[in-house]
Amino acid sequence: MTRENSLRILVAGGAGFIGSHLVDALLATGARVTVLDNMLTGREANLAHLRREPRFDLVEADIVASLPKLDRFDRIFNLACPASPPHYQADPVHTMLTSVAGTHRLLERARDDGARFLQASTSEVYGDPDVHPQRETYWGNVNPTGPRACYDEGKRAAEALVFDFERMHGLQVRVARIFNTYGPRMRADDGRVVSNVICQALAGDDITVYGDGCQTRSFCYASDLVDGLMRLMACEDVHGPVNLGNPNELSIGDLVERVVRLTGTPSRVVRRPLPVDDPRRRKPDIGRATALLGWAPTVDLQAGLEATTAWFAREVSPGARATGI
Ligand code: NAD
Ligand code: UDP
Repeated sequence: MTRENSLRILVAGGAGFIGSHLVDALLATGARVTVLDNMLTGREANLAHLRREPRFDLVEADIVASLPKLDRFDRIFNLACPASPPHYQADPVHTMLTSVAGTHRLLERARDDGARFLQASTSEVYGDPDVHPQRETYWGNVNPTGPRACYDEGKRAAEALVFDFERMHGLQVRVARIFNTYGPRMRADDGRVVSNVICQALAGDDITVYGDGCQTRSFCYASDLVDGLMRLMACEDVHGPVNLGNPNELSIGDLVERVVRLTGTPSRVVRRPLPVDDPRRRKPDIGRATALLGWAPTVDLQAGLEATTAWFAREVSPGARATGI
């Protein structure tokens, strides 16, 4: 059996926000890590500190196209896919193909290598949920034809493919249903609520609340999520999807208030139309993750927002602007 510290690991999407934190954590275990990324929403800056790391390399390629020649891997994490609505809706067909054709390619690669495969799925598979909090047994309420479908249905199809590979080929698979995650290395122009609100507050720009701000989300700090992903990959006997997220649910209005208080910004809060099919509420039931992996988030929202705000204040140029709808 391969020892954890000598594993060869592929992280597709490893130049992105979550992927780059995962790469750091994997390298810290002693593993060799290759990142495969088309740099669509990823940034070289996220990995710049690894330039001289001999156990790391970055290969620029699109998982929709044929994969470049690479060594054999023991583990494959598939995080490749834009995650923010403005980014995944910019080229919806490519987003869908990334989840379907791209995941298929990586699954074939995992089968040929005999690698264990982890798919970064999403709470979006639950759509606008009728069941609250969301458990893995809930099949979801997704609009299959709306503007979010390229992402939601793409991720649902990817899950189906993953479990077909488990049934057909005996592949060892893991599926993490990730709920809203935030932290350093999000892009200022990412378009998601945490980065938008923090960047707007820091710049003194209007803070954009879509709809009445009563819709809820449950925000998980990046380091907690990465810990969950690593535990899930390392766990020997898992079948079926596992929710990873922070069950601390709050409204978008409450989130904005917290950031306003934290930054002392003079920004005004302005209303914008609610995007089509925007889920009304979202909160993970993490009972399965806790039972299987002994995992639960440890970073509370206040500490996470402070760290994220400090990072944006330090790292992002004063001219950077949040992306709106
Ligand atoms: P991100 O946009 O920062 O990272 C995605 C990475 O994938 C980027 O580096 C991008 O360049 C790369 N990529 C996109 N399409 C690709 C393609 N066709 N070929 C190769 N590389 C490609 O997003 P993130 O927030 O880090 O999310 C990472 C993963 O986690 C995604 O799969 C996302 O769906 C999932 N997820 C994230 C969240 C969240 O709140 N951040 C929630 C649920 C699920
Ligand atoms: N949102 C907002 N202002 C923004 C960006 C987003 O009010 O500047 C809202 C958005 O409509 C949604 C929630 O915040 O209700 C979370 O949006 P995000 O894009 O971060 O994640 P997702 O909708 O994919 O959960």
